[in-house]
Amino acid sequence: MSQIILKNIIKFFGNKKVLDDVNLVVKEGEMISLLGPSGCGKTTTLNIVAGLLKPDNGDILIGDSSILNIPVEKRGAVIVFQDYLLFPHLNIAQNVEFGLKMAKVDKVKRQNQVKRMLELVQLDGYEKKYPNELSGGQKQRVALARALAIEPKVLLLDEPFSNLDMRLRENMRDFTLQIQRKLKITTILVTHDKEEALMTSDKIAVMLDGKIRQFGTPTELYQRPISPEIADFFGEKNYISGYINDGMFVSDIVSVKTEYNEHLSVKAMIKPEDIELLEPSNDTDIIGIVKSRKYAGDRIYYTVIANDLELKCISEPRKIYDVGDKVEVNIDFNNVVFFPLEKEVIL
Ligand code: ATP
Repeated sequence: MSQIILKNIIKFFGNKKVLDDVNLVVKEGEMISLLGPSGCGKTTTLNIVAGLLKPDNGDILIGDSSILNIPVEKRGAVIVFQDYLLFPHLNIAQNVEFGLKMAKVDKVKRQNQVKRMLELVQLDGYEKKYPNELSGGQKQRVALARALAIEPKVLLLDEPFSNLDMRLRENMRDFTLQIQRKLKITTILVTHDKEEALMTSDKIAVMLDGKIRQFGTPTELYQRPISPEIADFFGEKNYISGYINDGMFVSDIVSVKTEYNEHLSVKAMIKPEDIELLEPSNDTDIIGIVKSRKYAGDRIYYTVIANDLELKCISEPRKIYDVGDKVEVNIDFNNVVFFPLEKEVIL
């Protein structure tokens, strides 16, 4: 079993608490992302799992056993860093072989494993080259091969793609995911890129200020965030203030039926992609005026003013409206999330 369990992890740097009761369970074979803004404690968490840092409180288990007092090299967890950290004076085969040598694996086994790993990352034929002869993506693949060569129980990826340009980043991301799936290795990916987290992970842990605020599948986090803070982390949203009464959500701009009966003041969260702009017709409920337009090829970002409210919309470019155009604003309330005012709970 190589599930990872973090229990009540607390970490101080000086008198600054950078991890504040972090709890997390990564099931065997899962790929999860730690997602959060710079400085929220992602790398510190990863370093604690790897054994590069000691927590001030709490426990970490790999499988069923605590690894807190187990040295780095015996934990069965390897980290791949953003800047590869390959040994410049060793060739590619020697780089990949390094951990196996340290573990005193015999020579024939080492050579077979290096061959297998270089095939896995599609770099067979590169054995004799040196790191400075490789591109960024190739170096990242060597770093991955080196990490996987020792057959770790747990793979820790610290922003491994962020030094690569956009296309290469996407390729490396897909490639790493394929390998992760093939080897079924329990993996934690640290990233501040929401799309990367959404596209690669079985689950995402959103970290803010040293705490995990929500942990769930990409769809749960995107569709059902527990707070506006989490929602906004996945992109700008619209909020309409109003109240729920007798099964109706009532606001200045719209009143719609809901499945809730509580009497509560709420903010309704509406995603920009859930607002459709149409040509106004006779039975149009909400009329808006286009205030701005940003064309992004496959999408158009609009802001529309309706009943003094500024609404952000993302539309497919089937019909393009101009600034100043009158439009019908069609809100899809099926995906609305209601946040009770001043509380972090969804209904
Ligand atoms: P980034 O995405 O920028 O790498 P992060 O979420 O990984 O950020 P950490 O690197 O874990 O954040 O840092 C968390 C906090 O701890 C930050 O405020 C950082 O300045 C502080 N910190 C990290 N390492 C140390 C250290 N060795 N000594 C003192 N403070 C540190």
